[in-house]
Amino acid sequence: MLVTRFAPSPTGYLHLGHAWSALLAWRRARAAGGRFLLRLEDIDPLRCRPEYAAAALEDLRWLGLDWDGPVRVQSEHLADYRAVLESLRARGLVYPCFCTRAAIAREAAAAAAAPHSVADGGADGPVYPGTCRHLSEDERAARLAAGEAHVWRLDMARALDSVAGPLFFEEEGEGRIACAPARFGDVVLARKDVPASYHLCVTHDDALQGVTLVTRGADLKPLTELHRLLQALMGWPAPRYAHHRLLTDASGRRLAKRDHAATLRALRAGGVSPAEVVVRLEAGSK
Ligand code: GLU
Repeated sequence: MLVTRFAPSPTGYLHLGHAWSALLAWRRARAAGGRFLLRLEDIDPLRCRPEYAAAALEDLRWLGLDWDGPVRVQSEHLADYRAVLESLRARGLVYPCFCTRAAIAREAAAAAAAPHSVADGGADGPVYPGTCRHLSEDERAARLAAGEAHVWRLDMARALDSVAGPLFFEEEGEGRIACAPARFGDVVLARKDVPASYHLCVTHDDALQGVTLVTRGADLKPLTELHRLLQALMGWPAPRYAHHRLLTDASGRRLAKRDHAATLRALRAGGVSPAEVVVRLEAGSK
């Protein structure tokens, strides 16, 4: 059975770009007699707000979309993510990193490796130069025991060594795409404030919820290479992927969260009907 999902982060009101993602996933599920799941990716306590989460559900209903089963709210499942992290830690695949952002930027610059941004893939900032990968076990233990603030990073080289064979993911309409996640470096899998990260939670939940088709914007396509690695490390099944083009406005600009006029709320308040929204989405996706 086809199982797909829409997984917004409630950091603002849903805009047309979200609506397009949700509609495509919903249509796929309904056309196939499958399941359409809704998940709130709200682990970032600084940016996510409960009122945006509630508004997202209301806006989707207004648009005419329904979902199957309960909404999974990631912030209610931090113990699940902690368990994944612990499993990776027990296998020596993650390490604590005590560096501040400023220190990372300085080191990356000093190493003359001009900070190589992966922002187009996931806004993780510059590739981590690996400073804390070289700490001794004693130093790590002492700094952890002292309660020093830290994130947990994937040891990319070890992770790649521990998966058998080359990695691929299956993109609809394109076939197998080879994964080369090494370029992302030692990515953060658990933040300073929560024992989780987008990459860890999204892959864990897609596996837990039996998602067979991930439908989402093309901006996340590069990161699928990293997600595939996490799936392989954890022995999770690989869903198929259908990344869609991002909606653009009349001048060809990508819609962004700051475009308030493009929120479903604003459109609704301005008297636009759900059917008219769908017409706009279809026009904007061409
Ligand atoms: N929560 C992510 C976002 O709003 C989307 C995750 C996904 O679809 O994989 O950008």
